[in-house]
Amino acid sequence: MNLMKNQNQLTRRSFIKKTGVAASLFSFSPLSISSIFFNSTDDKRIIVIGAGLAGLSCAYELDQAGYNVMLIEARSRPGGRVSTYRDLFSDNLYSEMGAEYVDSSDKYVHEYCKKFNLKVLPAKQYDGVYLKGQRLTMEGLRSGRDSLPFKGTLKGKLFGQEVQYIKKWIDLVNLKGISSPEVQGLDKISVEEILIKGGAPKDIIDLYAYANATEETTVPSKMSALDMVLSNTRTSGFSENTVEGRILGGNDQLPKILAKKIESKIMYNQSLCRLDYGSNSIIATVKENEKLIQIPATKCVLAIPATILKNININPGFSIEKTKCINNQQYGHAMKIAMQYRQRFWNNKNSIGQRVFTDTPLRRVYDFSIDQPGPRGILLSFTSGEDAIKLGRLDKNKRLEIAKNTCKNIWSEAPQYWEKGIIKYWNEDPWVKASYSFAGVDQKGFREILAKTEESVYFAGEHTATQRASMNGAIESGLRVTEELKRTMKI
Ligand SMILES: Cc1cc2nc3c(=O)[nH]c(=O)nc-3n(C[C@H](O)[C@H](O)[C@H](O)COP(=O)(O)OP(=O)(O)OC[C@H]3O[C@@H](n4cnc5c(N)ncnc54)[C@H](O)[C@@H]3O)c2cc1C
Repeated sequence: MNLMKNQNQLTRRSFIKKTGVAASLFSFSPLSISSIFFNSTDDKRIIVIGAGLAGLSCAYELDQAGYNVMLIEARSRPGGRVSTYRDLFSDNLYSEMGAEYVDSSDKYVHEYCKKFNLKVLPAKQYDGVYLKGQRLTMEGLRSGRDSLPFKGTLKGKLFGQEVQYIKKWIDLVNLKGISSPEVQGLDKISVEEILIKGGAPKDIIDLYAYANATEETTVPSKMSALDMVLSNTRTSGFSENTVEGRILGGNDQLPKILAKKIESKIMYNQSLCRLDYGSNSIIATVKENEKLIQIPATKCVLAIPATILKNININPGFSIEKTKCINNQQYGHAMKIAMQYRQRFWNNKNSIGQRVFTDTPLRRVYDFSIDQPGPRGILLSFTSGEDAIKLGRLDKNKRLEIAKNTCKNIWSEAPQYWEKGIIKYWNEDPWVKASYSFAGVDQKGFREILAKTEESVYFAGEHTATQRASMNGAIESGLRVTEELKRTMKI
């Protein structure tokens, strides 16, 4: 173990310098590469693929426990879908272009933040509503003074309007239990279908898509009714009162800290393209530019999205059920547009608000810079589902033109302060090609199958977590795999 530690303390660059093997490094026998990072006499070598929060937490915890671990990442940075843009704005402003909110219940994120002295700040709650061209205040909605311009809604709230239409199924779960066939059968129908069965007008289905636009980045006709009903029996769901937080100074600090702790064990700019596995052996073939490198190991952790995994050459293939889930796991669409303005006009007296819920192509639009010094500021749009798809079909200039015009409709003085806009459409990202996973119709049980070990291959990533689609879920999955490996491979 000591020898391994010493070897692993060398960075790849310093090893190459010391040994002078740089030129031949990538065209050699598989063992020569593994010996750089792994003690070749050690039969407990673990290769982790993907340095998002799932892979990072797994590699970090395994390393802390004394395992011989190596982490391969296709990008030149850690964090995956946690992506804080820092250099593209003026005055050192930054913006979260990927994962943003840390809920109070996000246990694992909070634990790491505490451990690494990161502070989670509560974000502001929605204060404005812009629906069907009408400007409303959240305060007006809460008090019942204003009504939502959608048929079939209850007064006094914005979120959770669908609950009244699915009440009988919530009661069914409470009466018969989750595993009863009637309840489980709800997985065969979509959120749209169950709402229609429950007597909801079309407006409620439309509103549901907007109200859940950050939780589920897809359309109600693709989401499982079972998932919606069950989530309403467990919690009251997202509401006007939900307190969202984010890491002060940027979420990317968390993956960066984890990566720094295992710096010498991460190889960036290398992507897995083929995996050969047996019961206790792995050969991972990774690509660096045009060169192929083979890395032998004992176990492998795949912490990459199913959207990417389905195109990797796996030999022998995974089980039929696993392959079916990898190929069919549903993912949504998400785009963020960060708009830099010279002044924070959204704080002006007559403004609709700083954090606005809309049914426009921008969906949620809010002041991202509340905890950053002004006078410049960033309005961030988090748009998803059909709106993200539509914007995604347009070129960058057209997307920005729509963003600018939409902001003008919400805050008429916006155009005079406009400086620039930066866009990240995750479905265009070559290492995700999607936003995040959701429970699709007839996909009951997918998560458990996706998380199940096959021989020497372990599976992590938000899509394998009970709290999917979140940073917390990604870490949850990384910790689960760490525990599974610790049970199987004692050191
Ligand atoms: C727009 C957006 C908003 C979000 N908002 C929130 C939020 O507010 N709160 C929240 O908690 N979560 C949010 N999420 C979800 C959260 O970002 C993810 O659930 C989580 O970060 C996923 O982590 P992961 O490790 O499973 O996957 P990823 O972060 O995708 O990590 C996988 C890594 O694998 C790498 N990789 C892929 N293919 C290969 C390959 N072949 N070889 C080597 N490496 C490879 C990728 O580059 C990536 O670094 C958001 C996500 C998006 C896109």
